[in-house]
Amino acid sequence: MGKSWLVLCDVDSIQSWLLRSVHLREIAGASQLLAEHDRRLPELARNGEVLSCGGGTALVRFTDEESAWSFRGAVTSSLQEETESATMTTSEPVPLEGDFGAAVDRATASVERSKRLGHALGERVDFCHALRCQGCGQEPAVTQASIGGDDRWLGKSCLKRHRARERGSWLDWMRACAGWQDLGLRDLPSNTNELASGTQLAVMLADVDGVGDHLASLRDEPAYRAFSRGLKNAMQDAVVAAIARAAPPGAGAKLGVDVLYAGGDDLLLACRSDLALTLVEKLVTEFSRRAGAGQPWLQGKPLGLSVGCAIVGPKYPFRSAHSLAAGMLRRAKAEARRLKWSEGAVDWAVVTESWGEAEPILADRVVESATCSLHLTGRPYRACSEGTRSLGAFRQACHGLARGFPRNKLFDLRGCCTASRLMRQGAGPTDRQVRQARKELDERIGETVMRLERNPEVARLWADASRWLPIEDGEVMWRRPHGDLAEGLELWGAL
Ligand SMILES: [Zn+2]
Repeated sequence: MGKSWLVLCDVDSIQSWLLRSVHLREIAGASQLLAEHDRRLPELARNGEVLSCGGGTALVRFTDEESAWSFRGAVTSSLQEETESATMTTSEPVPLEGDFGAAVDRATASVERSKRLGHALGERVDFCHALRCQGCGQEPAVTQASIGGDDRWLGKSCLKRHRARERGSWLDWMRACAGWQDLGLRDLPSNTNELASGTQLAVMLADVDGVGDHLASLRDEPAYRAFSRGLKNAMQDAVVAAIARAAPPGAGAKLGVDVLYAGGDDLLLACRSDLALTLVEKLVTEFSRRAGAGQPWLQGKPLGLSVGCAIVGPKYPFRSAHSLAAGMLRRAKAEARRLKWSEGAVDWAVVTESWGEAEPILADRVVESATCSLHLTGRPYRACSEGTRSLGAFRQACHGLARGFPRNKLFDLRGCCTASRLMRQGAGPTDRQVRQARKELDERIGETVMRLERNPEVARLWADASRWLPIEDGEVMWRRPHGDLAEGLELWGAL
């Protein structure tokens, strides 16, 4: 092969650009604009070949340096034109001589250097006297649009995102996925912002574990291309299959799920809360079927998928729900790393208050001193269908209890766990206080369970469910996930 050049492009701060608007429809529309831009890349890369694209990044190979330089300008301005507000950083053309992996590393370093230097701000528009966009608050409003039954003023950039949603959207790529014909999926929710009207909304963030390490280990172009393509297909097909299995709509029915963003190894979904845990479970199992060790593009190293899911009331601010889901996703990934769960891990939280900060919600789950800790939940659960502390086993435990276990007793058990949170007041507890809290909690749980055991049928249900309870009784770390069961029953609804 003759000499060639690589150019790497990367959309700047993609997450914050996607979430610029507070309306779900415009977030999904923004994803649509990026997906359309990805499709136009081959045309923009004249004399070049697109080796991978998705998730805001693309890698293109050129056989002449001049085309590589002119592509840099063309791709940046076309993205701005298409989106009004997104910007992109491109690497300098990097000569590809010998080691492909080393060239990709140099292109990555070039992008990072440019990002550190920052962008010149474009022309600043003074709009202090104009009406501000009610989507992002960052631009002057130009027109009104109907959102969730309200008329809202939108600026140029948000309007573009708003309208992008009508152009076929993610259903297009879903239709292109394997098995679409059999799934019977038809319509989007009529209004994304009304997805949760009258019920709770689940905001779900998923991320593939270990993609960076995997990419760094790929040294030649065919392996790189196979990996990029394999990952993209596995993710998209898993999303489609999971939605079809978790939320099969009847004829003409609207889907209770909306894909707000799906690119590269990231996924952002919104759905009705009653579908949330089923959807999470289907998503991780469908993904692991498609990204298991047997796939040739993975070269023997399976990929896992971790998920963070925030379940909130319909009035809860979307950005707060997103940041809560992001916090849980980080913790789930850390737990999967710590315990070497190759399938990934899954975490969720139900926010009952209309406003709650992410940190205290997560901190409330554990009482810990310098050397020991009492966890009041089994979360995060392992992202697989069976085994201790797996999401599948947790569902089975809830499923069993749904057949006649008195719900009020489950709420009593949850109450026992909640009471232990009082320990968190004031300065951090001492070891003795944590041990004492554990003793009291076990006594309260013991009493509640003992009362139940007078009824043999209920006792049997409890014994079956307890088999799946992820209680770790090590020397210094204790887990009492009884509250999870009450929440699981509520979330899984009619199992
Ligand atoms: Zn706006």
